[in-house]
Amino acid sequence: MSATVSALVSSLKCSGIRAIMDLALGMDDVLRLEVGEPLFPTPPHIVEAACRAARDGYTKYTANAGLPSLRRAIVDRIERDYGVVRAPENVVVTVGGLGAISTCLRTVADIGDEVLIPDPGWPNYEMIVLAIGAVPRRYRLDPANACLPSPRDLEGLLTSRTRAVVVNSPSNPLGTVFPRALVEELVKFAGERGLFLISDEVYDRIVYEGEHTSALSFDTGGNVISVFSLSKTYAMTGWRVGYAIADKSVAVEMCKIQEAYVACAPSVSQKAAEAAIEGPQDSVKVMREAYRENTRVAMEILDRHGVGYQAPRGAFYLWIDVGREDSAEFAKELLLREHVSVAPGGTFGPSGERRVRVSLASPRESIREGLTRMTRFLGK
Ligand code: PLP
Repeated sequence: MSATVSALVSSLKCSGIRAIMDLALGMDDVLRLEVGEPLFPTPPHIVEAACRAARDGYTKYTANAGLPSLRRAIVDRIERDYGVVRAPENVVVTVGGLGAISTCLRTVADIGDEVLIPDPGWPNYEMIVLAIGAVPRRYRLDPANACLPSPRDLEGLLTSRTRAVVVNSPSNPLGTVFPRALVEELVKFAGERGLFLISDEVYDRIVYEGEHTSALSFDTGGNVISVFSLSKTYAMTGWRVGYAIADKSVAVEMCKIQEAYVACAPSVSQKAAEAAIEGPQDSVKVMREAYRENTRVAMEILDRHGVGYQAPRGAFYLWIDVGREDSAEFAKELLLREHVSVAPGGTFGPSGERRVRVSLASPRESIREGLTRMTRFLGK
C-alpha cells in the first residue's frame, strides 16, 4: 500500500514567480527580471569574516535564538537606526526574513485562525499562512488610498478568529513606504484589539524617498513583531540570515518553533551577519544608489512608451500596468516570445491581475533591454 502525503501540503501551490523561473531556467538567453535577487556579490569584508569564522570553529549549532554576540549587534543597530531600545532576549535570529515570518506566524496562529495579509503582497505570506493551517484574509492596498493599508478596511475584516495583521513597508511589490503616522496608527490598531502586528521591514535600508519608520518605535504592549533580513541590505540572499524582534515572552515561544524546524540559523552565516551589521556600511549606500539609478532608467523607458506603473519610494521593484487580464499568461508569452522573464502580478493577490513586477536589482542592461522588449511586445 502506498503512503500518502499530507492533504494540506498537497493542496499548496508554488507561486507564479516560481513557475516563470522554472520555465526561464530551461531556456537560453533570458533577461531575468522576475526574482528579487541583488545583482551585487556579498561585500568582501563579510565573506572574509565568514571564512575566518569557519576556520575559528564556528561550525557547530548555536543557541536556538542565535549567537549572543549577533543578538547584541542587532540590539545596537536597532537603537542606532531607530532609537528603539531592546534587549538581546527580544531578538530571534532566523533562517532569512522568511524564517522569521514563518516562525512568528506559526507562533501566533493556531489551525483555523485568521491572518490578514496585503493584496497585493509578497506571495509567501499566503503560502506560509496556508502551510500552518491558518486562513489568509486579504486586505486591499487601494490606489485610491495611495496603496496604503487603511485601518478602517482592516476593521471590517476582523472576526473572533483573527490573530495577526501582516504589514510590509517598504513594500514588495509596490515600493510604497508607510508614513510615520500610519505606522503609529497600525500599532495602535493592533494593540487596542489584542492582535499581533507582524511588520515585515526587510527592505528598511532601501528607501529612496522619505524614511523608514520601524513599527517597534510605537510598541508599548508587546504586540509588534518586526522582521528584518540581511538578504537585501547586504546582498546576502544565499546566506540565509534574518531576525525577528518581539516581546520576550513571544521570542521564547518562537525559539521552540526554531528548535522544531531548523535548530538555528547557520553558524558561519551568523558570524557573516555580525560582520555585516558591525562593519563599514558604504556598500549599502552604493547598492541603494545603483537601484535608484536602475529605477530612474526603467521609469524613463516606460514613460517614453506610455506604459503605466507605480513609482517606488523604496525596495527594488517596479509594479507595471500591462493592461492584460491574465498576468500569468502574459508573463509566459513575454518569456517565450521575447525571452524576458517578469513576475506575474496575479501571484501577489487578486488585485495584481493586469500587472507584472520587475526587479530593479537586476543588471542595468537587462532592465533596459528587457523593458524595451516588453514595450514592443505590448505594441507601444
Ligand atoms: N519579505 C519580503 C517582502 C520579501 O520580498 C522577501 C524576499 O524576497 C523576504 C521577506 C524574505 O527574504 P529572505 O528570506 O531572503 O530574508
